[in-house]
Amino acid sequence: MPKVEQVCLGIECTAHTLGLGMVDSGGKVLADVRRTYKPESGGIHPRESARFMAPSSAQALAECFEEAKVPPRRISLVSFSQGPGLGPCLRTGATLARAVSAYLAVPLVGVNHCVAHIEVGRRYGGASDPVVLYVSGGSTQVISYAAGFYRVFGETEDIAVGNLLDTFAREAGLPFPGGPEVERLSYCSKELVDLPYSVKGMNVSFSGLLTRVKSLIPNRKLEDLCYSLQETAFSMLVEVAERAMAFLRKDELLLVGGVAVNGRLREMCAKMCSERGASFKTVEPKLCLDNGVMIAWTGLLAKSVGYETPLPSSQVKPKWRVDKARVGWRKGT
Ligand code: AMP
Ligand code: MG
Repeated sequence: MPKVEQVCLGIECTAHTLGLGMVDSGGKVLADVRRTYKPESGGIHPRESARFMAPSSAQALAECFEEAKVPPRRISLVSFSQGPGLGPCLRTGATLARAVSAYLAVPLVGVNHCVAHIEVGRRYGGASDPVVLYVSGGSTQVISYAAGFYRVFGETEDIAVGNLLDTFAREAGLPFPGGPEVERLSYCSKELVDLPYSVKGMNVSFSGLLTRVKSLIPNRKLEDLCYSLQETAFSMLVEVAERAMAFLRKDELLLVGGVAVNGRLREMCAKMCSERGASFKTVEPKLCLDNGVMIAWTGLLAKSVGYETPLPSSQVKPKWRVDKARVGWRKGT
C-alpha cells in the first residue's frame, strides 16, 4: 500500500445489492451503504433489479459521503464490480462509477467480484494464504492462489449452492432469499432424509439433489427437508474443501460469499479444520453478503500495483471468471 493515505469509493452492483463502500488504505471502513432489491415473487429478474438500483443510486451516494464524513476531494479512486454478474445490474454500477470518477477526476478501477469476496476475507477475516470455499447465489468454487491468479480447484458442475437453497425454498413457498429461511427451519429437525450426494473429485453437482428434495415437498415435513438439504449439500462442500487442502498442503480455510452466513456451514467447516489441525477463517455475516466495502478494499489493492481501468476498457464482463483476473498485489507461488 502507498505511504500517502488513499480513500477509495467502491461500487458493488452485480445482482440484488447496490453497495457503496468507502475504505482508506489502512483498511478502515469509513462507510457501508446498501440498497437491496427483493423480488415480489420468484427469483431475481436482472432488469427489474437494475430498475430498482438506478433511481436509488444518487441518494445512496449522498448517504455514503455523509456516513464517511469525507469531502469529495479526499477520494483518490473509484472502483466498481466489473463482473461477473447480471448484465443490466453491472451496467448500472459501471455507469455510476464512470460518472463519479469523471466528475472527481480520479482513476477508475474495475474489480472482479469473486476476487473482492476473497480479499475482504483475507483483510477482515485474518486469512493469509487460504484454500477458499466461495459459496454464493451464483457461485460455488474451491479456490486458492498460485502464481499471479486465484485458481479454481473445484466447482459446481451445474447450479450454485445458494441457488439450490433459494430454488428449493421458492418451491416450498418460502420467501426470497431462501437460504436464511432454510437455515431457520433446519434447526427444528434432526431427522435426516436420504438425499443424493454427488461429489466428483473436487467438483460437486447439486441438480439431482434439487430434483429429489423438491419431489419430497408434498410428503415430508418441511423442517426435515431443510435439515437434510443443508446436511447433504454442506457435507459435499466440506468434503471438497478438505480434499483441496490436503492436495495443496494448505492449513487454512477461508469461507466467503452469501451462504457463508450460515451457522451450520460455519460449524461444519470449523470442525473439519480442527480435526486436521488447520485454522478456519471467515468474516462477520454482513461482510459475507455483497457490499461496497469489499470492492473499495480490492480497488485499493489493485491500484497499489498500478492497475487502472481507462474508460474504453470499462465495459462490464458478465462472465469474468475469478481465474482470469490478475492479482498482481499477491506475491509468491
Ligand atoms: P450473494 O450471492 O453472495 O449475494 O449471496 C446471496 C446468497 O446467500 C443467496 O443464495 C442466499 O440465500 C444465501 N444466504 C444468505 N444468508 C444465508 C444463510 N443464513 N444460509 C444459507 N444461505 C444464505
Ligand atoms: Mg457475491
